[in-house]
Amino acid sequence: MIEFIKQEDKQASDILKRELQRQKYGLEMIPSENFVSRAVLEALGSVLTNKYSEGYPRKRYYGGNDFIDEIEELAIERAKKLFNVEHVNVQPYSGSPANFAVYMATCKPGEVIMGLNLTDGGHLTHGWKVSATGLFFKSIPYHTKSDGYVDFEELRKLALEHKPKLIWCGATAYPREIEFEKYAEIADEAGAYLASDIAHIAGLVVAGAHKSPSSYVHIITTTTHKTLRGPRGGMIMVTKKGLEKDPELANKIDKAIFPGIQGGPHDHKTAAIAVTLGEALKPEFKEYGAQIVKNCKALAASLMNNGIKLVTNGTDNHLCLIDLTPFGKGKGIFVQEALDIAAITTNKNTIPAEPSSPYYPSGIRLGTPALTSRGMKEEQMKLIGEWIAQIIHEVKEYELGEDKETRKSNLDRFREEIKDNPLLKEIREKVKGLCEKFPLYKGLEY
Ligand SMILES: *Cc1c(COP(=O)(O)O)cnc(C)c1O
Repeated sequence: MIEFIKQEDKQASDILKRELQRQKYGLEMIPSENFVSRAVLEALGSVLTNKYSEGYPRKRYYGGNDFIDEIEELAIERAKKLFNVEHVNVQPYSGSPANFAVYMATCKPGEVIMGLNLTDGGHLTHGWKVSATGLFFKSIPYHTKSDGYVDFEELRKLALEHKPKLIWCGATAYPREIEFEKYAEIADEAGAYLASDIAHIAGLVVAGAHKSPSSYVHIITTTTHKTLRGPRGGMIMVTKKGLEKDPELANKIDKAIFPGIQGGPHDHKTAAIAVTLGEALKPEFKEYGAQIVKNCKALAASLMNNGIKLVTNGTDNHLCLIDLTPFGKGKGIFVQEALDIAAITTNKNTIPAEPSSPYYPSGIRLGTPALTSRGMKEEQMKLIGEWIAQIIHEVKEYELGEDKETRKSNLDRFREEIKDNPLLKEIREKVKGLCEKFPLYKGLEY
């Protein structure tokens, strides 16, 4: 499958081979990751990567774009149907530039914007202080309440007081349904554009496993590589409601992407998006989306039955957020690294009212999109939940320490001790056995 790389570049091909092995024999539980189909991989590896096509279909700055126009139009038509929107731009290089283009289209530098605070589950690009979106615009974040749900009372109060140009709904670490209708009421009252960033849940939305934002918001942005199960990329969509608010909105979005912040689109990726959306239109994808949620509820129940606390005490979607504060603060790093040794991949994450910091947070974010793509069901989730709980209990006594030096020596000692931990070794073997029963990329050898 990578015969040419193998012949030409042994160093690179060895690395690719080891990464394929890692994916095959580990449990991928980072909720923003997934496994694309062989068809999507082929599109990504296609000759369309050779082309320059600045501009939009039928309006390009380069010749030779007849077939690029066709593939981009195919992707656009499929996205319109799947998301029930009026206009689609499939050129964003990824989710972050898609979001930045929305600012360009709706705000002037320095104007007020609102998004869910990062440590409460919001995304960097929703106005976090170190992001360009927080530096170039006046960001007024809203928060979750202590129960982990969005604080709509605070949002309404801040929106009426600060009159933002743009309000973001959507999140990157939020285990509950996004209540688009509540956001719409507040944004309409404040006169703001409402953009929903469904990067995480796009696959659930098209599968009918999460409600759709299309009748509530003006703009929808998404990545294409999370639950949607496509190549790394982004899309921006304008709804009927968006065009009613501003008939020029679609134009403004297109101009913001090109020539606003990007040059030529990545046409091989556009082809892969078209293939992905074709897969999402099939009835099997509805089952896939529903199973992601069923699996996640089973995983959440298993964790809670084994003494693990979850933010909001459960989940409505594809992810859960483990709250490790019953064991102390800043313990995410110990759990993430211990799980890694057992070949269970997750990420440390902040939790609402985080008592530590984004780099040493007190939570673990994990989810089921990738495992569901492998064919795993509730029975496997129950088992995996038990393993994760065992590992948490195994390392919960480790302390981070307050100052930099104590932290370093505590972490060094932890890493030395868990290297040969028998429980982690035993679970790693069980994980391998489970993965063999749910083969990934069967027949694909690097
Ligand atoms: C992942 C994500 C993004 C950004 O996507 P990148 O492709 O990593 O730039 C934007 N918004 C949300 C809510 C996300 O979860």
